[in-house]
Formats: sequence, structure tokens, C-alpha cells
Amino acid sequence: MRLDVITIFPEYLEPLRHALLGKAIEQNILSVGVHDLRQWATDVHKSVDDSPYGGGPGMVMKPAVWGPALDDVAQGCGLAALTKELSSSLPHKDKARHDDVEGVDPQRYQDISVREGEDPSLPLLIVPTPAGKPFTQADARAWSNEEHIVFACGRYEGIDQRVIDDAHNRYRVREVSIGDYVLIGGEVAVLVIAEAVVRLIPGVLGNRRSHEEDSFSDGLLEGPSYTKPREWRGLEVPEVLFSGNHAKVERWRRDQALLRTQQVRPELLDGVKLDHHDKKVLGLQ
Ligand code: SAM
Repeated sequence: MRLDVITIFPEYLEPLRHALLGKAIEQNILSVGVHDLRQWATDVHKSVDDSPYGGGPGMVMKPAVWGPALDDVAQGCGLAALTKELSSSLPHKDKARHDDVEGVDPQRYQDISVREGEDPSLPLLIVPTPAGKPFTQADARAWSNEEHIVFACGRYEGIDQRVIDDAHNRYRVREVSIGDYVLIGGEVAVLVIAEAVVRLIPGVLGNRRSHEEDSFSDGLLEGPSYTKPREWRGLEVPEVLFSGNHAKVERWRRDQALLRTQQVRPELLDGVKLDHHDKKVLGLQ
């Protein structure tokens, strides 16, 4: 997968070089280019923003800068071609993770993100904005199949809307929010989305079951997890986890997931198929 990020703060994207994403870069599963938007600014001050039409507070990011930046990055040409690739921060090569599982073949998710009338060969442009559609695990699954994703990081009051409208000519465009709150800029949202997407690319997580059993994969939140020691500060690990009975452990885990979801995010249960036992656990019959 190729990721390109356009931002006025390239150093904010430094975390993309670390840990599992850094490992993915080193294994050539991932390549990342972080582009400084100011390269495309043409005035002496390298300005990227201007006052909003219609008045009001704050500044809006200029189309005359964003347009050429998105044109170049879509094709990896012009100023975009001069950007240095992000390198991995750590030498991970050939080191198996402690939870790597032999015999588990990496598989792709089958989901794709192509809307009616869209050309699937165009790169995906993700524009983080609090006014976008909420980003979900289903998006992460679908986007983990993309060859080329470009992120446009807004600042100030955001990017002139015509930039987004025009980008539809060269990209499949998704305006997404990472939550109902307002950040200062899109960089942190890009880190969130990139992590969620890249960890689902086959080969990035040693143990694919790690994400198959994660929260949201089956529509439920994941229940509690425990490790050694068996007793800690007077608190015991639930007995069932030592039973050696796989079916019993699985049933207990599902019960815990159901109860946690009911308590914390009850609306999620509307999208989950519940059997007789599930309903009994939830006190629904
Ligand atoms: N004026 C905008 C509004 O009210 O919708 C808020 C702009 S915000 C101060 C600046 C930038 O931060 C946005 O362009 C976007 O890139 C990013 N941002 C802020 N909150 C976000 C969120 N919840 N999800 C994704 N991106 C966000």
C-alpha cells in the first residue's frame, strides 16, 4: 500500500515510522510520503490560507495551493516526486513477533470502497473533517485493500470546499470524522485512520486472529483480557480461563462481550444477530 499525506506540519506524521507501521515500511508492505503543502504555495510568504468569504472568524485553506498539491500527489509527479520516502525507525527485519502464529495464512478482507459511478482505479482521497461521516472499522477493513491512499490534512477552519469537489475528478473522495469533537488539525486524525487501516493489511500483524477477535469485528466490544500472575493485589483471574475447555472459554468470552456492549454501547446490539443463549445472558428473555 502507498500512503501520501499532505500537511503543513510534516513532523506531526513522524509516528508513522514507528512500531508496526515502521515494520510494514521495512517489509515493503507499506511506503509513505509526507508532503509539505507549503511547497505548492507561490507567494513569498508561502501562505496557504486566506480570510473566509462571507466574513467570520478564522482562515480557510486556499484552493490555489491545495489543487496543484492534490494533482501532483495523485500521480506522484511534479513537486510530489521530490518528497523523500518515510523510512522505518527501527530495524525489525527477520524478527518474529512474540505472538506470531505459524500456519496462519495472511488473508485480505473482501470489502471494497467503490461507490456508484466511481472509477475503482483512482486513488482514495481521505479528508478528515468533523463534518464528515464517522470513520468505522468497516471503513478500515475496506480501505486495507487500497493500493494508494492520500490524506489531506486541514488546519484553521478547514479547506475551501471547491478543492474537495474538484478532487472527485482524480480521486475517490471520502470526508470522514474520527469523533464528535473538534481537533486543531487533520494530522492526528490521519494517524488514527492510518493505524486502523494498515494493521489490517495481511502480514502486518503476525497473528491475524488478533484483529478477527477485536472489538467491532463481530459487532460487539471485546470483553476483559488477563495475563500472569493468576492473582494480583488480591484480584483473581476468572476460573473459567484455566478450565482448558475451549468451548466454555469461548462462551464466557462472548458473554462478557455481550454484557460490556450492553453496558457501554447498547446501540451496537441492534446490529448483532443474537441467539437464544445471547438473549438470556442479556436478560432479554
Ligand atoms: N471549521 C471546522 C468545523 O467546524 O467543521 C473545524 C476545523 S478544525 C479546527 C481544523 C481541521 O482539523 C479540520 O479541517 C480537520 O482536518 C481536522 N479535524 C478536526 N476535528 C476533526 C475530527 N473530529 N475528525 C477528523 N478531522 C478533524
